[in-house]
Amino acid sequence: MVTVLDALQAGKTYLAIRCEPCRVLRHVWWKNFPQLRLGDRLDELPGRLRCEKCGHRPSSVEAGAQSDAFGYAKKIY
Ligand SMILES: [Zn+2]
Repeated sequence: MVTVLDALQAGKTYLAIRCEPCRVLRHVWWKNFPQLRLGDRLDELPGRLRCEKCGHRPSSVEAGAQSDAFGYAKKIY
């Protein structure tokens, strides 16, 4: 199981929260979740979050890092 601590140690910098009804994917920094604890499991987070717009639970919550983002140059030549 991946916990918040695992994600932080893997260099993840934000949570990518997807709301299917709104068709949006939001990137939210860790510091915006002061109630998160290091031992919390990422797969439990959809049950603890609600979309600010429509009130639905997110369809997925994943940890992301800047280097995962599309278009980011991963190597310097
Ligand atoms: Zn929504």
